[in-house]
Amino acid sequence: MSHIFHRGGGGAPPLAVSAKGLWVVDEAGHSFLDASGGAAVSCIGHGEPRVVEAIRAQAARLDYVHSGAFTNAPAEALADRICAATPLGMEKVYLVGSGSEAVETAVKMARGYHVARGEGDRHHVIARRQSYHGNTLGALARGGSEARRQPYLPMMTETPRAAPCFAFHEKKTGESEEDYAIRAADTLEAEILRLGAETVSAFLAETVVGATAGAVPPSPGYFARIREICDRHGVLLILDEVMCGTWRTGSFLACEDEGVRPDIVTLAKGLGGGYQPIGAAVCTREVHEAFADGRRGFVHGHTYMAHPIACAAALAVQDVIAADGMAENVGRAGEKLRQALQARFGNTAEVGDVRGRGLLQAIELLEDPSRKASFDPALNLAGRIGDACQRHGLLVYPGRGTVDGWRGDHVLLAPPYNITEADVAEIVDRLGRAVDEALA
Ligand code: PMP
Repeated sequence: MSHIFHRGGGGAPPLAVSAKGLWVVDEAGHSFLDASGGAAVSCIGHGEPRVVEAIRAQAARLDYVHSGAFTNAPAEALADRICAATPLGMEKVYLVGSGSEAVETAVKMARGYHVARGEGDRHHVIARRQSYHGNTLGALARGGSEARRQPYLPMMTETPRAAPCFAFHEKKTGESEEDYAIRAADTLEAEILRLGAETVSAFLAETVVGATAGAVPPSPGYFARIREICDRHGVLLILDEVMCGTWRTGSFLACEDEGVRPDIVTLAKGLGGGYQPIGAAVCTREVHEAFADGRRGFVHGHTYMAHPIACAAALAVQDVIAADGMAENVGRAGEKLRQALQARFGNTAEVGDVRGRGLLQAIELLEDPSRKASFDPALNLAGRIGDACQRHGLLVYPGRGTVDGWRGDHVLLAPPYNITEADVAEIVDRLGRAVDEALA
């Protein structure tokens, strides 16, 4: 009997024994083509020797110090690198251990900012239904997956919802995408006014929605309007880029492509590329100065903050991305991937949409192709496709909760940034065979 708690309630999954580049190998000797980097994590592939060496060298030099007592060189360098990578003028970095910790940090920072400025009791964080922000209680409360939230509801504060931006499901027939974007964003203002702006701390959203909606980029103009509304009411804008940030969609931050500067942005998966757990909440100088004023009692920190080995690994991952020109490949390879998905699934009635940005792409599945959003969770089409993919030696990231927190089904692809055209063809071929098998 395995003594490890395995998620999902089933038996133990296959035992992975090694991984190199795009391939993961299990105990039985089966090889799996990793088209999702796990949960959009392994952004430079597995077993990269330059990262392995950086981890070894850092472990030998300085393994751990408490961040309250010491700073350390890899953490300082990583924070510098993050701020230099974006032209948006983000100036302070809280280095933590996961995406959920980054989100928890961000929402606490927002509250601390308002209190420090004497702005009264701003505590509501308005979030979107189509979102995933993590599994700790504070982050889970803000996320949109009702299936995940429901068992813990009595332990969480209710999160106000507004401003969904999901044209595939919500744009009216005949409405332009630009008009839809404004209509969607304006529901945030209505919600702020309903709650009273003096009670609203922040609006939290994924720039490109990942795990609960399947690679949904914002409609053009949406975030510019959101920024205007936040500014008008003194509400902070927190963008969760744990999945879509750190080059995954082409730019270091996905919000650079929206021309919008958030007050706080969260990063995690592509920051460390899976070599060590790491996350970051990155903020403007104004937010930092308010939050970090210790006299106000906003104490915050985690044992593994700014962990030297995690930071050295993340720095090495960013070095590899720069040295090998991987970020430049994301847009090109992403376009090839989308075209290949469109060509393969264009005539598959159950594939309602192919969408994404950069190397975050997804197919949305319709159980009943005659109606959108008709998915019956019990049928679990994405899960069946995920299982079939595994039989065909392909790792994808199936998800659900697209439409209203319950229904919706998609398969997410997030391969490494250095993927080739041949890899793209192989992924789409294996996925196609798995989809055929699951639908048969
Ligand atoms: N935010 C987003 C957008 C995510 O995709 C995730 C992880 N899927 C998280 C937060 C939580 O990250 P972690 O699982 O590392 O806590």
